[in-house]
Amino acid sequence: VILCYHRVTELERDPQALAVRPDRFDEHMQIIRQIAEPVPLGSLVRDDGVVSASGRRVAVTFDDGYTDNLETARPILERYDIPATVFVVAGMVDDDGEFWWDELDRLLLKTSPPGRELELEMGGRTLLWTMPSGNGSLGATTAGWSLLDPVDPGPVERLYRELDGLFREANHRERESALEVLRAWVGAGSEGRESHRVMGSSELRQLVEGGLVGVGSHGLHHISFAELSRDELSAEMTESRIRLERAVGRPVDEFAYPFGARFLLPADDVSELREAGYRLACVNFEGTVRPGTPCHRLPRFLVRNWTGDEFSERLERWFGVR
Ligand SMILES: [Zn+2]
Repeated sequence: VILCYHRVTELERDPQALAVRPDRFDEHMQIIRQIAEPVPLGSLVRDDGVVSASGRRVAVTFDDGYTDNLETARPILERYDIPATVFVVAGMVDDDGEFWWDELDRLLLKTSPPGRELELEMGGRTLLWTMPSGNGSLGATTAGWSLLDPVDPGPVERLYRELDGLFREANHRERESALEVLRAWVGAGSEGRESHRVMGSSELRQLVEGGLVGVGSHGLHHISFAELSRDELSAEMTESRIRLERAVGRPVDEFAYPFGARFLLPADDVSELREAGYRLACVNFEGTVRPGTPCHRLPRFLVRNWTGDEFSERLERWFGVR
């Protein structure tokens, strides 16, 4: 079983439901120690690319590269001696901005957007939203809300959900210019919050010190890989590897696709992956690693902010999933 975490922290708002509370993460690790064998991700794939899967083994991974992985998750991993791979978005290292989904949180949910029209160019179309004006409470109802909720409490949450869908399929340039329009719309800058920062080079070096935690690539810009040209694909893969290797000072040969959903993956990428220097790649659909699992489509289970009981129940169930 490969687990996919994102953040170990407590957030005021968590619209993507990515944060696991530190005490709960501690419980999860304790449970892994008790009922399974924690192993490094890389040990699941032999040098010839064949997966070696047997027994109740668990590999822990993190996506995106938030600073809490170093500050909060790593000490807990050390306590239980559990190895992990952190997949870092290379283009965000030593950058003071935020991921677009965090920026949408900051611009829409943290501040109250104005009751004015919003016009954005995305996917070759001009999109127009009319926000209700005058009640002053836009954005005030969102504590505890996330995209997992079946109902959006207000117009801002609806807008966040719509933009989330559009941003997932947009390219880097399109996203950047849409964010600029949004910043101007709410009157905010581009500087990110300390609580939503990605590790810088020196932090990445600290993270891998001792060898318990390794760094893999999560691409350059966290874009969908579905419609990239061969050149763009190899740039996302090769350039991100080179940058991360320079940052951590050791080889980076594990990859995790941004988003990682089936429909956002390139059709045939195993040769690009090898050429770019990777020996395995993780995706974000569920399944266990078994003999015959392709090494460039290693399935993972996304972990949410579950209690110890919820987590151990799921882990037991996952060991039975094909
Ligand atoms: Zn990601």
